[in-house]
Amino acid sequence: MGGQVVAPDSLHLDMRGMNRVIALAPEKGTVRIQAGATWRDLLDAIDEYDLSVSIMQSFSNFTIGGSISVNCHGRYINKGPLVNSVRAIQMVSADGQVHELTPESPLFRALFGGYGGLGVVTEVELNLDQNTRLRRIVEKIELESYPEYFNEYVAKNSKIVLHNADLRPPGFTEPRLISWTTTDDPVTEVERMRPRDQDYSRNMNLLWAVSELPGGKRLRKGVEDKLFEQEAVVWRNYEASLDTDSLEPRTRLFTTYLLQEYFIPVNNFLPFVRSMTRVLTRNEVNALNVSIRHSPRDEISLLKWAPSEVFSFVLYYKQRNTNRARREAEAWTRELIDVALANGGRYYLPYRLHASRYQFEQAYPEIHEFIAMKKEVDPGAKFQNLLWERYL
Ligand SMILES: Cc1cc2nc3c(=O)[nH]c(=O)nc-3n(C[C@H](O)[C@H](O)[C@H](O)COP(=O)(O)OP(=O)(O)OC[C@H]3O[C@@H](n4cnc5c(N)ncnc54)[C@H](O)[C@@H]3O)c2cc1C
Repeated sequence: MGGQVVAPDSLHLDMRGMNRVIALAPEKGTVRIQAGATWRDLLDAIDEYDLSVSIMQSFSNFTIGGSISVNCHGRYINKGPLVNSVRAIQMVSADGQVHELTPESPLFRALFGGYGGLGVVTEVELNLDQNTRLRRIVEKIELESYPEYFNEYVAKNSKIVLHNADLRPPGFTEPRLISWTTTDDPVTEVERMRPRDQDYSRNMNLLWAVSELPGGKRLRKGVEDKLFEQEAVVWRNYEASLDTDSLEPRTRLFTTYLLQEYFIPVNNFLPFVRSMTRVLTRNEVNALNVSIRHSPRDEISLLKWAPSEVFSFVLYYKQRNTNRARREAEAWTRELIDVALANGGRYYLPYRLHASRYQFEQAYPEIHEFIAMKKEVDPGAKFQNLLWERYL
């Protein structure tokens, strides 16, 4: 989205061919796998052992190496960023040396959120979890009560595996909570994972209608209310195998769908939501929804997005493909970043490069340590992309 994988006149490594499982130890619940494998590749390899990925994004299409580079997270309760599930990394540096790294190593810490700037991750050793059956529970509460509710009924409930709260336009005031809790009940969906070639035309049509038609938001409410009334018990790997094909727009000629994410210390939940709503409303942003997640403090990575316990706000929106729309988006995004910074928060780096250099340095003061490390392991600046070109 922001050129994190590109630089002018550069040579690209397509890692997706490096997708072999090197060693799987089902009894220990660990796996060593090549970094070009996607989460879906890994799910395919471990499902028959009743194992699941411990921490990953909501969708399974991303490579494990690309996920390390952003230090991804999902909806997993009390798990935090991906770094918490990684036991070891093999990495190749600019001079061709192969490094075996464990969490004690400063280079290991800097690779998470390092956006490919330090070297090529080639193999990864991960902790896995059990593939349990999960029941979906949907609730609605007052916005004001959410942080307390989360503390009392989500964080302390060891049966909840996945949880997020959805805020919808125009008001962003009525969070709908979706929790997936472990259960022994029979599944309502017989597939263990989503078929790789599933047809998502209906989703795409709905997405288009919601974001383009005058009555779209109401239509969506009706469809979703109906969907969430239905009982759902699925395998964890079924929910983990969500496919970004379900989001793909029919055409990118005129519009595109985009993401942003803000990480806010838990105590500033309400002030942030209120200011965020003001910015989105004033700028008439075509927001589809804001998904709220939670993460404990990141104790390991260098360029961390959770220096303290945070709620994160994932904004999913639609935008015209014109220079004017891009300029407007840059302006309101900078407003949102200012709101996040004023609330002691940070913003996520895999998306469009709208932040000013000042905002970037405010959000990630550890960047100076990262620069020192880059000079050490990549003195000729072999590893480049537009993100690092803009902010380093
Ligand atoms: C629809 C959508 C949904 C998303 N949902 C989530 C979410 O739920 N949670 C979340 O945390 N993030 C989410 N993201 C962001 C996503 O996690 C990142 O964009 C991630 O980097 C994508 O992985 P990728 O394999 O496509 O990486 P790429 O886009 O290919 O690469 C990302 C960065 O990693 C570097 N890189 C890739 N492979 C390697 C390697 N082997 N060694 C070293 N560097 C490497 C690249 O150079 C680049 O800088 C989402 C993004 C999209 C588009």
